[in-house]
Amino acid sequence: MKLLVASGNKKKLAELQELAQGLTVEVVSPASLGKELPEVEEDGATFAANARKKALAFATAFGIPTIADDSGLCVDALGGAPGVYSARYSGEEPVPDRDARNNEKLLRALRDVPAALRGASFHCALCLAFPDGTTREVEGRWPGQVAFSPRGANGFGYDPLFLLPSQGKTSAELSTEEKHRQSHRGRAMQAMRPVLEALLGNEAGPHEA
Ligand code: IMP
Repeated sequence: MKLLVASGNKKKLAELQELAQGLTVEVVSPASLGKELPEVEEDGATFAANARKKALAFATAFGIPTIADDSGLCVDALGGAPGVYSARYSGEEPVPDRDARNNEKLLRALRDVPAALRGASFHCALCLAFPDGTTREVEGRWPGQVAFSPRGANGFGYDPLFLLPSQGKTSAELSTEEKHRQSHRGRAMQAMRPVLEALLGNEAGPHEA
């Protein structure tokens, strides 16, 4: 049984491969199937809506059960922004230094906000979709704070600004394993694992469950 990951992102593919270890599924990338990718505009109002849209588009186009994720940072003092706009917070253009620009914009937006009001959380929605249009969805959340300046060299995106007060570190100062154990994506994946086991874990077929 093949499980497609609706993303060209190698990191996401690797994380999903880890999640599927021990299951009788082969995690495959769209690139490995040698077909044109469906165009999916991430215009949903929620992470769940975007993940569902991506998973359904790929599952239908490729005829293979597909998993997709959508994630981002929600900042309390900004009413939940940048939220679903996290990747393009500083602009639509996918320029190479977009992560740095996003972080600079976030720091400017929170310039006068004191530590006690800098609460934020990462969110991740995961959707497993089947070619017949059925879906299973889970979410993971990771609470923290926005730091006053960037720290750490690991991870990506907002990691250098995402402070975990109880650990005295930003998520860019955690090892990959430490981050994965507690992160929004790690938590969503843990929630998805039993769903995958029940639906795809044997060769008998997708969803008798
Ligand atoms: P997407 O799910 O690939 O659309 O990512 C959304 C955006 O949210 C990314 O470009 C990052 O800016 C941010 N983001 C999501 N997850 C993380 C994370 O684990 N660390 C840092 N930034 C993240």
